[in-house]
Amino acid sequence: MSLQEKLYDLFMLDQQVRGLRTRLDAANRRLTLQDKKLDQLRQQQAELTDQSKHAQAEVSTLEHQASDAEERVAKLREQMNNVRNNKEYSAMLVEVNTLKDEKGKLEDHALAKMSSVDDLKQRLADVDAQVESQAKLVEAAKVEVQSAKDEVGVQLDDATVKRDAAAALIPADTLTVFERLADHYDGETMGQIEEQDRRRREYTCGGCYMELPIERVNAVMVKPDELVTCSSCNRFLFIKQELKEELAAVKK
Ligand SMILES: [Zn+2]
Repeated sequence: MSLQEKLYDLFMLDQQVRGLRTRLDAANRRLTLQDKKLDQLRQQQAELTDQSKHAQAEVSTLEHQASDAEERVAKLREQMNNVRNNKEYSAMLVEVNTLKDEKGKLEDHALAKMSSVDDLKQRLADVDAQVESQAKLVEAAKVEVQSAKDEVGVQLDDATVKRDAAAALIPADTLTVFERLADHYDGETMGQIEEQDRRRREYTCGGCYMELPIERVNAVMVKPDELVTCSSCNRFLFIKQELKEELAAVKK
């Protein structure tokens, strides 16, 4: 096998691998995306749970403070029944009124806080529901990845082994160029020489459709162990056997 043929082999196998990998890659990308959304929702869920606990604790503190004030008022009232001194009585009355005032404020504050607890709980319930449905999407994406693996896995492994074997026959520096082109052109590493006009010796590269200097076409024809690239897009050039034979016959 000539170097050109070996490279063409690699090209075909590489395309097969890429084709098989496309579905698996897409499924994996979807799974990563859904997973990320689930993570974000769970983070939101944790934050809301935390906020809700804090707000709840504040409500109980306020309620305690309010009931303390109430107890204090009750005690004062008891004491007031036994007080004979008018001045002392008025002082106690002032304190009772202040405490009642304070208690009212604490209760108002607790009430407002409670409504924010309700609000947080509502938001948390919404996020809980979102987490649940997002978790289902993640499960579905996992199933999708598994079915893509089941469907193409064996073929992909097989094609990858063949592709790697074909790659092993290519000199390292050429392989480096090949891989770079494959990344750049999404696997379209080779350009097929296409004949536009034999009499006028017009040939184009099948990769970029630009005209090829006739010297390059000739080089592909006569030096099968050398690799020739397109002058415009740098893809490796190859020629179909039929065209090669036809052109060889013309030359004789
Ligand atoms: Zn080209």
